[in-house]
Amino acid sequence: MVQRLSNLFLRTLREDPADAEVASHKLLVRAGYIRRAAPGIYSWLPLGLKVLAKVENIVREEMNAIGAQEVHFPALLPREPYEATNRWTEYGDNLFRLQDRKGTDMLLAPTHEEMFTLLVKDLYTSYKDLPVCLYQIQTKYRDEARPRAGLLRGREFIMKDSYSFNIDDAGLDEAYQAHRAAYIKIFERLGLKIVIVKAQSGAMGGSRSEEFLHPTPIGEDTFVRSAGGYAANVEAVTTVVPEPVDATNTPAAIVLETPESPTIETLVDQSNFLHPRADGAWTAADTLKNVVVAVILPDGERKLVAIGVPGDRAVDMDRVEVNVGALLGVGGEVEVEAATEEDFKKFPQLVKGYIGPGNTLDAKLLGEESATGIPFYLDPRVVPGSAWITGANEAGKHVYYLVAGRDFEADGVIEACEVREGDPAPDGSGELMTARGIEMGHIFALGTKYAESLGLKVLDQNGKLQTVTMGSYGVGVTRALAAVAEGNRDDRGLIWPRNLAPADVHVVMTGKGTEIVDGAEALVADLEAAGLEVIFDDRPKASPGVKFGDAELLGVPTIVVVGRGFAEGKVEVKDRRSGEAREVAVADAVAEIL
Ligand code: ATP
Ligand code: MG
Ligand code: MG
Ligand code: MG
Repeated sequence: MVQRLSNLFLRTLREDPADAEVASHKLLVRAGYIRRAAPGIYSWLPLGLKVLAKVENIVREEMNAIGAQEVHFPALLPREPYEATNRWTEYGDNLFRLQDRKGTDMLLAPTHEEMFTLLVKDLYTSYKDLPVCLYQIQTKYRDEARPRAGLLRGREFIMKDSYSFNIDDAGLDEAYQAHRAAYIKIFERLGLKIVIVKAQSGAMGGSRSEEFLHPTPIGEDTFVRSAGGYAANVEAVTTVVPEPVDATNTPAAIVLETPESPTIETLVDQSNFLHPRADGAWTAADTLKNVVVAVILPDGERKLVAIGVPGDRAVDMDRVEVNVGALLGVGGEVEVEAATEEDFKKFPQLVKGYIGPGNTLDAKLLGEESATGIPFYLDPRVVPGSAWITGANEAGKHVYYLVAGRDFEADGVIEACEVREGDPAPDGSGELMTARGIEMGHIFALGTKYAESLGLKVLDQNGKLQTVTMGSYGVGVTRALAAVAEGNRDDRGLIWPRNLAPADVHVVMTGKGTEIVDGAEALVADLEAAGLEVIFDDRPKASPGVKFGDAELLGVPTIVVVGRGFAEGKVEVKDRRSGEAREVAVADAVAEIL
């Protein structure tokens, strides 16, 4: 196929778009691949669509290869299914909500777990129907807080999302592994370097989750890795919490030697992560990334009384909603609210405060009085580099938890704190190094969360209803395209890998003589006949300089110049990436390029 620049719908730009922060964004707009319609929302022009189709096709082929079947869902959806799973609320401001003319609530889907679950529920009834795996390559909507970097974080973007349905965990594991392997192939074919990291299952629910991060300094995710192969998103590091410990019965715990009335000083003294200072305050060990102090009030309510991160990033407790329970490992999902003014008035032993700057903890935080008579336990089963202490009295009243640990999810209040270089990896596989990356793909073993809330059950071998177990798997298709552009460029423009380029060859015709025009036309026809996709710069009026500039900006891997040397039967064949150019006899040109 030949795309002629004399009539291709394309206007290249000299100036970078004003809102563009990253190179791929600038170049994709300047080279006429995409055009901004609104913040985070882009129109696709002919060349952009060509590349997009190639990226989609790689994803499609690898999905088909693992037996997934393609379907296509609407983006405009009713509220009810998302209400049933609570995601109508949970998604918060990121969800585009709207109403139809009758006032019925609807949404633009950010992801489709609910709809796939309902479709399978609609049509399948028996374990004999399973396993099944469905996917789509479809437009998603998320009202991202900071749409930036063009396609890398859009508010409308294309995702490949697939969903696996199995009768048991073994089946789910197979589907998960198949996707993992398929994703490795997809990113290999896209030429994107990937680090697979442990991820937080978070709002998706479910047990196991991994992200495919593409390391790049412009990435918005921070991950840690060790030489021994450990890799995790820092968001996920704190999910490696110790086993739940019953504070009143902890056989595996080390009981501190504080038989009678330990004070807060003995606690500090015997802990290995808080150090008393001369002025009476404490400093937390350097290795700590944040400190959380939660208490169970005498009336049994759990409250957060202090929270801190290193440096001067003090945290406003009124805005903290954090599941400290999960962090503590006490009973899993224990909600801990921030203590209010009333609490502080009601219980004078609580000292209001935050920790920081510099990890300094107010020595009086728990109050000496309240510490009296309480046995403390230091649990050694902690994430390396973090520690936690639980304390309780025999009656179960005045139970205190003093925790210091790593990053934890605080719903946007605390930005991911950096884990420091040199910290030990949680699995002991060496020292951690930190790096930035972009999330290109994400795989989740969801388990029964969605099937349960939406009632997806099938009859098992014994004729009993059994809940189906699911996985969900996403690849950011438009994000992948942008990441490829980001990693393949120079100061003159894009440099597409051949398998993704909008054409194989870019023929530049300089000069207007019939000899040159006829020669260029003949060469283009030969290239096309040889099965190559060609961009042909046949513009009669553009200068050679403009034509060369555009060829470099567009980024097709091979540029052929039909011009000066043509009278001697020569064309110039230039490699866009290396810049290497050589004179080739016209007769050999096609063979050279193939
Ligand atoms: P991120 O952490 O970057 O916000 P996410 O974890 O919210 O991504 P998922 O819900 O896991 O994204 O969606 C699956 C995939 O969709 C992601 O791995 C990513 O490649 C892509 N994706 C998510 N949000 C966007 C976006 N705003 N623009 C482009 N692609 C996106
Ligand atoms: Mg997101
Ligand atoms: Mg993410
Ligand atoms: Mg994700």
